[in-house]
Amino acid sequence: MIYPIVAYGDPVLRKEAKDIKQGEIDVKKLSEDMFETMYSASGVGLAAPQIGLNIRMFVVDGTPINQNAEEGEEIDHSLTGFKKVFINAEILEESGEEWAYEEGCLSIPGIRADVYRPETVKIKYLDTDWVEHTEEYSGIAARIIQHEYDHIDGILFTDHLTPLKKQMLKKKLNNIQKGIVDAEYKMKFYK
Ligand SMILES: [Zn+2]
Repeated sequence: MIYPIVAYGDPVLRKEAKDIKQGEIDVKKLSEDMFETMYSASGVGLAAPQIGLNIRMFVVDGTPINQNAEEGEEIDHSLTGFKKVFINAEILEESGEEWAYEEGCLSIPGIRADVYRPETVKIKYLDTDWVEHTEEYSGIAARIIQHEYDHIDGILFTDHLTPLKKQMLKKKLNNIQKGIVDAEYKMKFYK
């Protein structure tokens, strides 16, 4: 099932999401739906608040980034097989130099901007079999995790931009909020 993607301006994107209790929801079915929704919008990550659910869950699949790499472009090995579901995730540590990477967001179509974040992230989470994992990621994989993890804390990538850049994007963001936006997938606007 493909969900409409919640657009910038909806308060659900600004809430700190709640932990999921085991058995409370069908996380396997939900993760399938989230992947389907994400692929239909050509995204590489999707967090539950983006489909209107205030729960700590997100899915990622960074493999298309390498598949779409142009000839001569470097392959990011952190993305090999990087298709995962993160439930009740907790970032334990971020380390390394901050580096700039151009981010975008399915809830904020048409806007991309450089965001600085630390290189490496150590994260604890449950998978859909409720097995706990603690793993470390770097490169673009870490970047996708950091972006999606922000979503379950009610943070958007635009929050990380400089005041000047935010000012420059203000009109575009207001338009998205009003539903004046061109997206190639179904969106849900807050009224
Ligand atoms: Zn996003």
